Amino acid sequence: MLNYWNKEIETIGEDSLAALQLKLLKETIKRALETSFYKVRLEKAGITSCDDIRSLGDLNKIPFTTKDDLREAYPRGLLSVPSKDVVRIHTSSGTTGTPTVIYHTKEDIDNWTELVARSIVATGVTDEDVFQNMMSYGLFTGGLGLHYGAERVGATVIPIGGGNTKRQIQLMRDFKTTVIHITPSYALHIYSVFRKQGVELLDLNLKKAFIGAEPHSENTRRKIEELLNIDAYNSYGLSEMNGPGVGFECIHKCGMHIWEDSYIMEIINPVNQEVLDDGEEGEIVFTTLRRNATPILRYRTRDLAFIHEGGCNCGRTHRRISRIKGRTDDMLIVNGVNMFPSQIEEVVMQIPEVGTNYQIQLEKDGALDKLTVKVEIYSKMFTGDIHELDLLKAKIKEDLRASIVIHPIVELHEPGSLPVFEGKAKRVLDLRPNSYKEV
Ligand code: AMP
Ligand code: ZN
Repeated sequence: MLNYWNKEIETIGEDSLAALQLKLLKETIKRALETSFYKVRLEKAGITSCDDIRSLGDLNKIPFTTKDDLREAYPRGLLSVPSKDVVRIHTSSGTTGTPTVIYHTKEDIDNWTELVARSIVATGVTDEDVFQNMMSYGLFTGGLGLHYGAERVGATVIPIGGGNTKRQIQLMRDFKTTVIHITPSYALHIYSVFRKQGVELLDLNLKKAFIGAEPHSENTRRKIEELLNIDAYNSYGLSEMNGPGVGFECIHKCGMHIWEDSYIMEIINPVNQEVLDDGEEGEIVFTTLRRNATPILRYRTRDLAFIHEGGCNCGRTHRRISRIKGRTDDMLIVNGVNMFPSQIEEVVMQIPEVGTNYQIQLEKDGALDKLTVKVEIYSKMFTGDIHELDLLKAKIKEDLRASIVIHPIVELHEPGSLPVFEGKAKRVLDLRPNSYKEV
């Protein structure tokens, strides 16, 4: 079994990594100065040549880049190579305003593919695996990103994309799929379809899932692993940094290794932008080190996590981040109390009677906010014993109150009655006036 895809770089020593990062950062600055957007930005900050960056400490001379900056630079402001060198673009959906675009050269795609190959080999994937990619293909990076990496490793790839659960199950059965790439919410949904259709896990050959694209709790991971009898690995990425392959769990499942030869990672306080130490929770900031067509400097991801201290037993030296708690803009303020949807998920997913889906709804009740948590429970609970259901409701309510401080309304729903998402799940329905949030 392959342990590493690229042992030399995956186990690089601290000093060599720092030297490599500095070299690549200087090259990135040089490329950034070729773009109309960064030329103005960097010159304003006193950086007119890559020689103005002498050490990694000089990173803090570089201004942050935000999603709005990327929008402002749309469509060509961040392009640093001649158009003929671009082989692919990925754009964000643009449903909430101007889209953002990332250009890739052939070498960029090659580098991205290398990162995905490394990531999946870290979970034990080999050329003997059959990989069914249930993430959508197209402008969304989850499909093509994993596809190329899995092919490079030599796995057999089934590029079905998202949705069409019946077909997914048929292919899993017929081709003895061993690994799937899926959102956590869709993984839970697939399980409920298994139950409905009487699909036996023994008829499948499923061993692993890469779960990502949306925040999920440790309890959700555990639930997916138990229900599907597999190992589930957290996979993190964002289109601005290519897509999947930025961070991935190895077989030890103790945080996601970030490929630090390709991204400089910082954690900052989202309020005052101060750089934080390992172990402190804040917003992840990335600088691309190996992207030619669209270099991005100090990108504020809005994703909240912390860096795990210490090494990993797998021998990879690249630091690991915690699972993503949520995005700075996911935070809900309910009657003055701040909370993240992930806190609610953590609580409901550890209750055995709770099924595979839930939803959070916010409304106004007079001057106050009303929080309703709707959970699907297994049908065996609907036996007509109202008392038992009341006890369960009270337990969920109490567990939630202990975690999020306020008293939610809890509704119990039958399996399959809450909305299902084949792509990223929208768990929060915020119906309060002046709020259009559907996280
Ligand atoms: P996109 O650029 O559309 O691919 O969305 C990227 C965003 O999805 C990230 O910035 C995160 O907010 C979220 N995301 C991706 N992977 C994960 C993950 N494993 N856990 C939590 N959130 C994730
Ligand atoms: Zn590891």
